Amino acid sequence: MRLVLLGPPGCGKGTQAKRLQEIFGIIQLSTGDMLRAEAAAASETGRKAAAIMQAGQLVPDAMIIGLIEVRVDQPDCRNGFILDGFPRTLAQAEALDAMLAARHLDLDRVVAIEVDDEDIVTRIAGRFSCSRCGALYHDVFHRPKQDGKCDVCGATEFTRRPDDTAETVRKRLQAYHVQTVPIIEYYRRKGLLRCVDGAGAIAEITEKLKVAIREGTRVD
Ligand SMILES: [Zn+2]
Repeated sequence: MRLVLLGPPGCGKGTQAKRLQEIFGIIQLSTGDMLRAEAAAASETGRKAAAIMQAGQLVPDAMIIGLIEVRVDQPDCRNGFILDGFPRTLAQAEALDAMLAARHLDLDRVVAIEVDDEDIVTRIAGRFSCSRCGALYHDVFHRPKQDGKCDVCGATEFTRRPDDTAETVRKRLQAYHVQTVPIIEYYRRKGLLRCVDGAGAIAEITEKLKVAIREGTRVD
């Protein structure tokens, strides 16, 4: 089973990809993780990618496709894979198809997790953590039992990531929509697309994803 999981930042697709990996016995391929692994291993690709990212530029599609290509040829991907965080643009979706077609492979399903923008803003902009022990909290979903005091270590200092402000999140979501609408259309035309409502508990969303993935897919 070869899957692509689409969804805005903060929709929980990384978490869901991990769960689907277990359920379907397939490998989660996160291009972010793959790039970090290459950088850590100081491979040629890793060094090149690190230099590009340090310069504040985007890693070229061909480099990412090259990484995925090497990865899908490995034995643990024989049962299939789930791509999370890729493709992000129509050009990447087309390059992915071409790479798979050259291996006589294709995608079985593309699932888009849908969450209202303002829900995402609430989810991301509400996050904060304990400055001392790193325990995670949320303004709405998980406040410390006693306001201003960490449940775990009792510290009274908290931090927020500078890019987790409502304004930054809205900008990221705008960019996501501009890039993703064409991909959604591309996969819809191919008959591969299913959409799943990303509101609710993690386990609930996993169930909806399982249904969407199994619906009409061939079993091989
Ligand atoms: Zn703490």
